[in-house]
Amino acid sequence: MSYKPPLRDEIALRPGYHSPQFDVEVALNTNESPFLPPEQWTSELLSALSEVRYNRYPDRKATELRRCIAEYHEVEAEEVFCANGSNEVIEILLLAIGGPSRKALVFEPTYALHSHICRLTSTEVVSGHRDESFRIDPEQARKLNELHDPVVTFICSPNNPTGQLESVDVVTGILGQTEGLVLVDEAYGEFASPVSSALTLRSTKGADYDDSLSRLAVVRTFSKVWSMAAFRLGYLIGSPQLISACERAALPYHLSTPTQTAGIVAMRYRSEMEDRVKQMTQERDRLRAELERLKVQTWPSEANFILFRPGDRSGREVWQKLVDSSVLIRDCSDWPGLEGCLRVTVGTSEENDRFLDALEECL
Ligand SMILES: *Cc1c(COP(=O)(O)O)cnc(C)c1O
Repeated sequence: MSYKPPLRDEIALRPGYHSPQFDVEVALNTNESPFLPPEQWTSELLSALSEVRYNRYPDRKATELRRCIAEYHEVEAEEVFCANGSNEVIEILLLAIGGPSRKALVFEPTYALHSHICRLTSTEVVSGHRDESFRIDPEQARKLNELHDPVVTFICSPNNPTGQLESVDVVTGILGQTEGLVLVDEAYGEFASPVSSALTLRSTKGADYDDSLSRLAVVRTFSKVWSMAAFRLGYLIGSPQLISACERAALPYHLSTPTQTAGIVAMRYRSEMEDRVKQMTQERDRLRAELERLKVQTWPSEANFILFRPGDRSGREVWQKLVDSSVLIRDCSDWPGLEGCLRVTVGTSEENDRFLDALEECL
């Protein structure tokens, strides 16, 4: 008989979390950027990679990359931790401060990976529920924080897959309700206005942290706005104590030299990134207007995707029809709280037109 791995219960009882990857002409299912990084970034990176001493381990502290990210956010390098994608950042964080007999609070519907990573690390998940407009109810958050005393409260803002931003006041409110860490996942942060980022709460360079600010952490990624999903690079901004905690839990040399280099070089192309973000947000607004014209229900989005419900048609059926037309979007129709909903990533204007035509046809 072949070997059957004795899976831990937390893993055995749950389906894995994977977005289906099909070969389609128009892939609008995982919120990637439709644009390649700038050509100059690619050539500059290739030439930097030809200088790497591949026989040596990478810089374990990712010194230069952290310096660049710190400069971009006007914080100190000691306040930055990097890993292979923001999901890995969160996993390392939970390895450090989560685990058996500790709890994490999430507000559903939200990014499924948050609770998935909690389970992977044996951290118990407490689920709150968003109101009809998919916002966190501060009163409910207070009760749950009081009752469960979580080590981490997750706030996804803009929230995936619903698109709304959580106000800085909500973040401050929750910081006042808990003694644990408040982790704001801003994977789509650059698509929204900078004044709405939880990073605005952080004291300026070098200033002392008061108690509640030292419990605030913000996660960002190169996967979306920086058009670098293939590289796997994400980071956390938090107190130096939190960064050291992450460093203890990370495996030695977890971030390869090519990945560090890619991030360092990307930071030199900030204005190109901002141009692409502007194009994507314009397309997003056009896409939403077109969806409204097709009389499907939509929700406002501050990210690069739109949640919608195709009226009286079954979400699953519409999703399949789109796949048959070689357009792949995300089927959220059987997720709790999102009955009948689908999520489309903003693509290039041609891709968005292909999606809209296929949708119109099947409606
Ligand atoms: C896409 C996404 C991420 C990105 O994860 P990476 O591991 O950095 O690719 C993180 N958080 C949310 C909410 C996302 O939607």
